[in-house]
Amino acid sequence: MMLDYDAPLYRPPSEARSLIFQVTLGCSFNECSFCDMYRSKEYSERPWEDVRAEIDMMAKYMPETRRVFLADGDALNLDAKYMAEITRYIRDKFPKLERISCYAMPMNILKKTPEELGMMKEAGLDMLYLGIESGSDAVLKKVTKGAVADTIIKSVNKAKGAGYVVSCMVILGLGGRKYSAEHTSGTARVISECSPHYVGALTLYLENGIKQEFLTKYRGEFEKIDDDEALEELHGLISQIDAPDEIIFRANHGSNAYTIKGTLPRDRQAMLEKIGWMRSHPETVRPQGLRGF
Ligand code: SF4
Repeated sequence: MMLDYDAPLYRPPSEARSLIFQVTLGCSFNECSFCDMYRSKEYSERPWEDVRAEIDMMAKYMPETRRVFLADGDALNLDAKYMAEITRYIRDKFPKLERISCYAMPMNILKKTPEELGMMKEAGLDMLYLGIESGSDAVLKKVTKGAVADTIIKSVNKAKGAGYVVSCMVILGLGGRKYSAEHTSGTARVISECSPHYVGALTLYLENGIKQEFLTKYRGEFEKIDDDEALEELHGLISQIDAPDEIIFRANHGSNAYTIKGTLPRDRQAMLEKIGWMRSHPETVRPQGLRGF
């Protein structure tokens, strides 16, 4: 039994087996120059009657559901009371549920009070996926992310303080050749200062529809890095992260040329050695045609 989703529908790779309810459509920001996920949609919030009807229907067909993901691009933009109403209802309807998660932008978190974040957590929202993308303010500005490094750090720490599990994404190659070193060190600093529970490293992949806009916003300064340089960024990132808590770090997304995963700081040395080995065996990278964002 499938819901009649408003396409396109996206979810993090780790939510591949989750039941998805669309509580918002599109992204309330929709301006990041590297992202075309919701360009075809105007942001809107779905009414309670529609959301509730879908929850009721799926509770009949999939009562064993253990994980729910709330789409679209930044469901945390919803008013806290409305989000709490939705998650509480889902918890009631799916007795075996283990986790409810959604995407969040730094601003969604910062706009909410600690009490509101606590109320949604209490009502059953457990996990937030947030795009750091880069820790370099210069790069964040070039890609019109709508956030700077310090607000990202603040938002992740605020969410963690309210009890959420936070999973963050960073994008290798987002700074191009010119900003590569700054992108790497800035991103390592942001991760170190907010210590998300999970970090996923993707590799920049520009869809044709947004490529020109991305390059225009970069004002001629963008030069794509190659696979070896992406591995160098990954090496720099893993060596420079110095966080107070353990981080499960993965670079196994379909956009990457390779697969690296481990827990920091415990597996740091093994991960760095694997990267070193891959750099000397370029024939092991995933072929370009098999990669995607
Ligand atoms: S990256 Fe996230 S915040 Fe930026 S436009 Fe895409 S969905 Fe919206």
